[in-house]
Amino acid sequence: MSYAELQRQVAKINDVLNALSVLTWDSRTQMPLGGADTRGQQLATLTDLARRLILGSELRQALEGAEHEVSSQAPDSIPARTVAQVREAVEVSSRIPAELVSDIAALKPTAQAAWGEARAANDFPRFQPYLEQMLDLSRQLAEAIGYSEHPYDALLLQYEPGMTARSLSALLSELKTATLPLVRAIAQKEPPRCDFLNRDYPEDAQREFALGLAKKFGYDLSRGRLDISLHPFEISFTRQDVRITTRYRRDYLPTGLFGVLHETGHALYEQGVSPELTRSALTTDFLGLYAVGGASFGTHESQSRLWENLVGRSWVFWQVQFPALRATFPEQLGGVDAETFYRAVNRVSPSLIRVEADELTYNLHILLRVELEMALLEGRLAVRDLPNAWNAKVKEYLGLEVPSDTLGVLQDIHWSTGYFGSFPTYTIGNIMSAQFFTAARERVRGLEDALAQDDYAPLLKWLQDNIYQHGRRFSPQELLKHTTGKPLTTGPYLSYLREKYGMLYGLGELA
Ligand code: ZN
Repeated sequence: MSYAELQRQVAKINDVLNALSVLTWDSRTQMPLGGADTRGQQLATLTDLARRLILGSELRQALEGAEHEVSSQAPDSIPARTVAQVREAVEVSSRIPAELVSDIAALKPTAQAAWGEARAANDFPRFQPYLEQMLDLSRQLAEAIGYSEHPYDALLLQYEPGMTARSLSALLSELKTATLPLVRAIAQKEPPRCDFLNRDYPEDAQREFALGLAKKFGYDLSRGRLDISLHPFEISFTRQDVRITTRYRRDYLPTGLFGVLHETGHALYEQGVSPELTRSALTTDFLGLYAVGGASFGTHESQSRLWENLVGRSWVFWQVQFPALRATFPEQLGGVDAETFYRAVNRVSPSLIRVEADELTYNLHILLRVELEMALLEGRLAVRDLPNAWNAKVKEYLGLEVPSDTLGVLQDIHWSTGYFGSFPTYTIGNIMSAQFFTAARERVRGLEDALAQDDYAPLLKWLQDNIYQHGRRFSPQELLKHTTGKPLTTGPYLSYLREKYGMLYGLGELA
């Protein structure tokens, strides 16, 4: 009986978190500016309510009974995982003082506003005191959560459970060692022709074409929809309602097109969670106070990148899709063939802005952020010295001079919202995406033929069976072990990068 009661309690928490997500989706797609203040209060009230439910005596009582009731079940069964995750959530959440939670929540909107103003005015000192406060609160949060080696471990726990500063640094340094020579070798080569990407592409036609691809991948529009927002995102209110957004640039086709493919990957994950897990602990991130089916931020990102890059930027894919794309944009793509298009959308060119970076240099943007975050947390770097440290790393890794903080240290919103420790999940997602995709290629018979015939069902089915359906039942490490037999490892990703970019740029000796 207690287990059933626990599930009822958790379902209520999940409902509150889904309601929060609906309000968030609305604020980013529909809400008029005037709604911002009261919406902020509504979000704060629901967040507080969710936290009270998690720390309340009703949940605790149900949990104790449920632990007893399911104690004979296999440790990785759904009931055993449910009680284990609720137990961990209650324990970690109760270590974080309510005052700290409300201090962080209160600082977020003002720090974010200061960041926005500083970015617009290229005025880092305007943002500096807020960033100092946010860093201080993040340090306090790390201390409250607890860690054995590095404060970064505690912050990573919120986004990528199981990952530590030590294991992350090892992965990133392997990636750096392998990527830098590739980027430098490519810099010596003739860049591909890209002019046609900047022609005039009407938004309606972009939307129709991109949504057509999303449907082919398996995005179910009876449980989804596509809207426009300034920053593209995916958000779900149970597997039955999984929404994506994108942003179109009339003068640059890849932004909208690959944005949709990326968010579709996230959406396929959420739509593929087993119905049995709806409104359960295994579709609830208790620490992040977010109703989500994906196992971690990195695991989620592995799916957006798998569909966007490993499928959507592949040569096989554009051989199949290009005729339809050119039929949609006959004037814009007149005189362009599939191979020219494929080369253009895979152009490698070091740039200042992370979100505009190509697949290869993207990880260098993450690497420099992670190194700076760790230095800030350890106190090796002071916030006032951050712009110089940033610029030095951009010079070292990307070979570029940073002309202004707007195009440098102020470009991302993450630090103003206190998301220290979230950047690495993008690169973890890249590494994981290749590991999963390589496993699918080895294990799904006829996968290559299916992809060449515009048939994505076998790939989607393998991903659903092995990853999506489980929701948060297994940790990222368990999912990797089950599907690939290995822990997170850079091997498949580095092979993929070397092979693809070796071919694209004729780097025989490196490929
Ligand atoms: Zn993403």
